[in-house]
Amino acid sequence: MRTGAGEDVRPCAGEGEEDVRGEVSATGCDVLIVGGGPAGCILANRLSADPSVRVLVLEAGGPDHWWDLRIQLPLAMGFPVGHRSFDWRYESEPEPGLGSRKLHHPRGKVLGGSSSINGMLYERGHRASYDRWADEAESPEWDYAHCEPYFRRLEGCVGEPRGTGRGRSGPQALQRGPADGPIFDAFFEAAQQAGYKVVPDATTTRRRASPRWIRRCGAASVPRPRSRTCTRWRTGRTWRSAATPRSARSCSRARVRGGPVPGQERGDAHVRASETILSAGAIATPQILQLSGVGDGEHLRGLGIPVVHHLPGVGERLQEHLAVHIQHRCIQPVSMSDIRNKAKWPGVVLDALVFGKGPGTRNPMQAGGFVRSDVAEGSEPDLMYLLAPLAMNSSDESVEVSAHGYQMHVGVMRSESRGSVKIASPVPAVHPKIVANFLSDPKDRDRWINAVERGRHLLGQPAFRHLDGGETLPGPGVRTGEEIMAWVRRTGRVGYHPSCTAAMGRGEMAVVDPDTMRVHGLDGLRVVDASVMPSLTNANTLAPTMMIAEKSADIMLGNAPLPPNRPERPRLVPAPEKPVVVSDVQRPASALPSGAALFAETKQTT
Ligand SMILES: Cc1cc2nc3c(=O)[nH]c(=O)nc-3n(C[C@H](O)[C@H](O)[C@H](O)COP(=O)(O)OP(=O)(O)OC[C@H]3O[C@@H](n4cnc5c(N)ncnc54)[C@H](O)[C@@H]3O)c2cc1C
Repeated sequence: MRTGAGEDVRPCAGEGEEDVRGEVSATGCDVLIVGGGPAGCILANRLSADPSVRVLVLEAGGPDHWWDLRIQLPLAMGFPVGHRSFDWRYESEPEPGLGSRKLHHPRGKVLGGSSSINGMLYERGHRASYDRWADEAESPEWDYAHCEPYFRRLEGCVGEPRGTGRGRSGPQALQRGPADGPIFDAFFEAAQQAGYKVVPDATTTRRRASPRWIRRCGAASVPRPRSRTCTRWRTGRTWRSAATPRSARSCSRARVRGGPVPGQERGDAHVRASETILSAGAIATPQILQLSGVGDGEHLRGLGIPVVHHLPGVGERLQEHLAVHIQHRCIQPVSMSDIRNKAKWPGVVLDALVFGKGPGTRNPMQAGGFVRSDVAEGSEPDLMYLLAPLAMNSSDESVEVSAHGYQMHVGVMRSESRGSVKIASPVPAVHPKIVANFLSDPKDRDRWINAVERGRHLLGQPAFRHLDGGETLPGPGVRTGEEIMAWVRRTGRVGYHPSCTAAMGRGEMAVVDPDTMRVHGLDGLRVVDASVMPSLTNANTLAPTMMIAEKSADIMLGNAPLPPNRPERPRLVPAPEKPVVVSDVQRPASALPSGAALFAETKQTT
């Protein structure tokens, strides 16, 4: 592996536990990976493929036990969020654009990181998101053509036909969900009635989709090979097999405190490594950098932290998605609300774990789409909708949701709003100050009003008439643009996608060199996780984070990069006249209205 200028050994301060001290500190390791989330696990897998390279992963959280249903059962995904055993439970500073509300920022604190507690939806995002990265990072190597082969390398799509542009043999199992039943049927029909196109895959669908391609999409679970069990396909479990198992086990309960800088407190363990890679996620990575004296010099000096390297971009440029839910009562007993009946839980668990079927095997949000708002720029959709055949608690708990219902997640996926993650204390246990500055981009207002209006228009189509018992959220009292914005400010919640806090690039605010993933100005220290995104993609962030790790592993190993995938003619239809809702449904291609554009996918990693 290519190491820094430093084949030299770099110390890393750590508050390790006995096993780390006993096994590692005496000998050191070649590569120290801080954080066993998706990025950390993928790096560990690829970098340890050479048995002579000793890779150590330090994960602050506990192991992802096979018997722990709270993280194993896909439908149980609500349980670990907010639970101190699995979640860092960050809370933001008052958000100026949201009436000074403080928002919860869940982050996985367990092997597998947030992939062990997340919603399991897999979205590459639109190719324009990556082409924008290439511009922002001033590196053509990060455009979609160069990133696409790495998506394919990590994807292991189950039951996917050949020639769809999806990876079929990668380690990360993916499968389309059934998205069946009257509510999803109504949704697909309503999408077409509203003038949208129903397509099989947001990213890879060609203009002329073959009938084979037209199949149901959505969130589903993946039966494990040689077993029918359907459990969450966490990166901790998926990618660990090829990594040094002893390292992963040994370090799953260790906690890194200071990062790469010497000067440990009494009782800390020292881990010596030729290379240190920070993969602690978009909140902890900038925190560790700042605690280590790498960040804005003035800010660090104000906290009494010796400045090792002045790098003003550390912790700056945070981006996050904001989301709300439109909710309806359902007058037919066809929603998933039965799932709230605790008497049914043993059967649901049994079906999922033993027979690999039933509602326990998946996230209820099994269909959705990407739409360009009236103010969208270029070809990139800036709105995302996801439908669940179930009414869930609203963030302001304004409605009772025990009855049958359905709800649509509405997210504005593009915004220039930027915030920050800044330490407030030199003590590692003190959470950093997080502020996303939601709604600070002047265009956010128009996007949000348009997002809610379009969502309502979709759910108001005749296809829903036989189900619709009336809108409960935001409800009839919210009509005008002002009222919509007041509701968004009152109920908007984080989309779980913090990114960009140690962005790749070459300018003054760049933190990471896009060619090497090294922190600018420091040898032997790299960052590989969601922090390095130059800007947030227009979809969920697990897939891009995994792709970043796959690509970074090749960079570090000095492998020739996978050849870019540049189709001779564009594989995606350019910006549509009308916005497009997306999902998959089993119907012949001839049933699709012609002329509209294609972009969508909703898969699930389980
Ligand atoms: C509730 C929730 C739902 C989500 N749903 C989806 C979804 O459906 N689809 C999707 O695409 N994305 C989703 N995401 C986002 C996705 O999971 C993240 O983008 C992705 O996990 C980021 O990976 P990462 O490796 O950058 O960081 P993380 O997953 O945050 O992993 C970082 C790891 O580092 C560890 N760590 C932190 N500090 C230290 C330290 N000091 N020492 C040692 N270890 C440390 C953490 O414990 C953690 O295990 C969701 C996230 C959450 C929280």
